[in-house]
Amino acid sequence: MTKIRITVFDDKEGYCRILGHHLRFSYCRSCQEGMPCFKILDCWFEKIDVQKFIEENYSAEEIERFLQTPKPKMQTLMTLIQRAQERMQRD
Ligand code: SF4
Repeated sequence: MTKIRITVFDDKEGYCRILGHHLRFSYCRSCQEGMPCFKILDCWFEKIDVQKFIEENYSAEEIERFLQTPKPKMQTLMTLIQRAQERMQRD
């Protein structure tokens, strides 16, 4: 059986509901520091065999990592502030 090459769908286009415009699959498969977007399965399953593409090009650990929903920026900021406050109280 032939493996799906990582670049094979790069020129396919779709509408991104997060960014509000059309973009290519090449962006979707690399926008999280070189790893796919966490919504790649939802956005592409009707157009390509994205499940097979993911399974054949990434390890189980990578898939688990990039499919996690990113923390909202505000939550990340609050966590950083909280940690800084805890550090200051310790010092
Ligand atoms: S996979 Fe991510 S970047 Fe690509 S269209 Fe969907 S939400 Fe947008």
